[in-house]
Amino acid sequence: STVQEVVAATIRDVPDFPSPGILFKDIGPLVGDPEAFGAVIEHWRGRHTGSIDKVVGIDARGFIFGGALALALGVGFVPVRKAGKLPGATIERSYDLEYGQATLAVQADALTPGERVVVVDDVLATGGTAEAACELIEQVGGVVAEFLVVLELVALGGRDRLTGRVVEALASA
Ligand code: IMP
Repeated sequence: STVQEVVAATIRDVPDFPSPGILFKDIGPLVGDPEAFGAVIEHWRGRHTGSIDKVVGIDARGFIFGGALALALGVGFVPVRKAGKLPGATIERSYDLEYGQATLAVQADALTPGERVVVVDDVLATGGTAEAACELIEQVGGVVAEFLVVLELVALGGRDRLTGRVVEALASA
């Protein structure tokens, strides 16, 4: 089976999480299965071998995929975290959620200017998180070669907020 089929078969729908009416896409079974997890990392490794200086992962499930990909590519890993978690000098960026705001942060010296990165997360929904993370990386001098997600929720229009960026999703719903 293809990596796309493996991903589609191992993501679980959880109704009414985290609140009533929300259908949550759970990547727990995918990362719990070493063949499925390995197929995702191997697919991305094949696309980016030799062309990337760092992998950036977004808090929190982007750390799971991003950390594994960084080691598979033989490059370093940079976490984009929720504000208030990283020590030392940081750059922050706020963005709007359906209700309220969220803030992401990265260490100011996380990248050498001009370094090429891929930014990784589990799910692309409205695109606000991805947009803020990519902009933060560019603020610290990085070049975003591609945004990688396991699953894209197409109806939420995340791609429209990432116009001009290369977005690769392994599955869509
Ligand atoms: P966005 O900013 O609306 O695109 O939301 C994307 C962020 O929320 C990502 O960091 C995801 O991890 C998380 N997210 C949104 N919906 C889901 C879901 O159904 N399953 C898992 N994570 C989700």
